[in-house]
Amino acid sequence: MSKKSSAAALLLYSCVLTAADARRFEAAEPHMGTLFRITIYADDGEQARSAFRAAFDRVKQLDQVLSDYKPDSELMQVCRLAFAKPIAVSPDLFTVLESAQRLAKETDGAFDITLGPVIRLWREARARKRLPAPEEIEKALRSCGYKKLALDTSGKTVRLLVPDMQIDLGAIAKGYAADQALKVLRGIGFERALIAASGDIAMSGAPPGTGGWRVGIDCPDASAGEFSKVLTLRNAAVSTSGDTEQYLESGGIRYSHIIDPRTGMGLTERVCVSVVATAGMEADSLATAVSVLAARNGDQAALKLMDHHPAASARIVRPDRFDTGAPGTSPANQSRP
Ligand code: AMP
Ligand code: MG
Repeated sequence: MSKKSSAAALLLYSCVLTAADARRFEAAEPHMGTLFRITIYADDGEQARSAFRAAFDRVKQLDQVLSDYKPDSELMQVCRLAFAKPIAVSPDLFTVLESAQRLAKETDGAFDITLGPVIRLWREARARKRLPAPEEIEKALRSCGYKKLALDTSGKTVRLLVPDMQIDLGAIAKGYAADQALKVLRGIGFERALIAASGDIAMSGAPPGTGGWRVGIDCPDASAGEFSKVLTLRNAAVSTSGDTEQYLESGGIRYSHIIDPRTGMGLTERVCVSVVATAGMEADSLATAVSVLAARNGDQAALKLMDHHPAASARIVRPDRFDTGAPGTSPANQSRP
């Protein structure tokens, strides 16, 4: 998650929109290694400012719980302590772990938050632009596997069954944080809001006088300067996963930051997956899970996962069939209400 320290969170009231739309306010802050952008409708700037503060504070608090970059986060402390003895965790952490483990079971381990040791190797590999050694991957994989993470629902405890395990919530935490920021806003009377954290967007009620927020999906099948799809959504979330931003190229092969847990290798089959769901946590995690399954088993087999999620839908794009080299094809969603 947080690549750089977001502690020096800089509040950017980036724009208070045009006179024609005077009640729409937008602000952005860096959290969880990306920029969280919030759009709300409010009566005045003062009201908007306090709403932004409350929502960003919640995201910042969640980063302190869920980050695998901050050594003092709750997650990191749990990973240090929970080998062989159960550790009680906060409701936020337990909720995210439980949801991740449910998806791990549904996907037979294609989605796996215990990949931390392997993910770290790939992060280092991307930094030094050289593939991890096969024996390093093999060793790291011994400390991975979702069945080695035991959750006890009654006591809300976590236990790690082998040494040197590291949990990585990079595929699910931003979606949860977006949901929680919306919840905070709803709690203080803001029913029409949108939270965007790079490829993860969640929104509550529609902007006044509209049927929903217009959200552009940016996958490589888009024509230059356009989105590949524009959706109108409310009380929903959309996440896009792909390899256009984070990847390692070696020997003419492009390795994604999304890892196949069976091999410990970054995906080499290129996919850009967008998922629309009723909540950010579900959209975020499903987009990553479908990416692994599509790369491994093909699109039709991957889409079977959606049978478990009848309220959600997924779209898979194969970048190699569309690659124009055009700029603006990063797998980020953008909102333009
Ligand atoms: P996303 O951008 O939401 O698709 O998440 C990608 C991030 O999820 C990576 O940067 C890793 O931190 C993590 N990750 C990679 N592979 C997996 C996987 N197979 N299951 C769960 N998380 C993963
Ligand atoms: Mg994800």
